[in-house]
Amino acid sequence: MPFRMWTRWRRSRLAARPLPPAAQEWSARHLRRWSELPPALQQKLQAIAWILYQERRFEASRDWALTDEMKWAVAVNAALMLLGVRDYYFDGVKTILLQKQSFVLPQTSRWMVSHETSAGAAWQYGPIVLSWADCQIDSPLRRGGRNVIIHEFAHHLDGLDGEMGGSIQLPTRESIERWDEVLADEFARLQVALDNGQRTFLDPYAATHPAEFFAVASEYFFERPAGLQEHHPEVFELLVQFYNFNPATLTVLAER
Ligand SMILES: [Zn+2]
Repeated sequence: MPFRMWTRWRRSRLAARPLPPAAQEWSARHLRRWSELPPALQQKLQAIAWILYQERRFEASRDWALTDEMKWAVAVNAALMLLGVRDYYFDGVKTILLQKQSFVLPQTSRWMVSHETSAGAAWQYGPIVLSWADCQIDSPLRRGGRNVIIHEFAHHLDGLDGEMGGSIQLPTRESIERWDEVLADEFARLQVALDNGQRTFLDPYAATHPAEFFAVASEYFFERPAGLQEHHPEVFELLVQFYNFNPATLTVLAER
């Protein structure tokens, strides 16, 4: 059996296993927009999360132990990003390491993005590290459109083109070029607005690096899609193409 067919078969077996009994309750607790999703989409989301949960390797830092709910919380938020994506279950993320609290790491390089606040970090072709305290729905990094889980998984997707620089693999050459133009323009505009003391829709952290702009825009895309569409319509439209999903109307685009 060709590798891809075998992978699909294996995943269909994983998806067919019964979900953890509390899955529904955990999804509602850890996803802000859970109740907005139609039942078919809730089901699809949980099926994706269930594969991530079983397939990816979750680890805790040395000083504590993970619960099934913690793993589910991460998996179901990451699954939101895959609703329109076929055959990719963050295969390139080797390990998801959960720390109890925020942590300190070396700074950003071409192959790794971390933050001074260090609620999360993502290595290209390597692990994603998350601070559990910052993953919880009532934490400051899950408010007002922020979502540290989506942020770090977005960095991973950014790295799939070979570099975590903010350029992303859109479906056509035209859209890739358009994104690079829009990103450069919007990034510069955000910096000017902040320099002028204006309040901005996106968190100022988006203005620290084009890669951060993409990661922060991805957070708002899933958490506050109507706002992103209003304030950054071109960013929104291109992210709809990238994720193959419109989170404002909750529709998956045609499979590609
Ligand atoms: Zn970042």
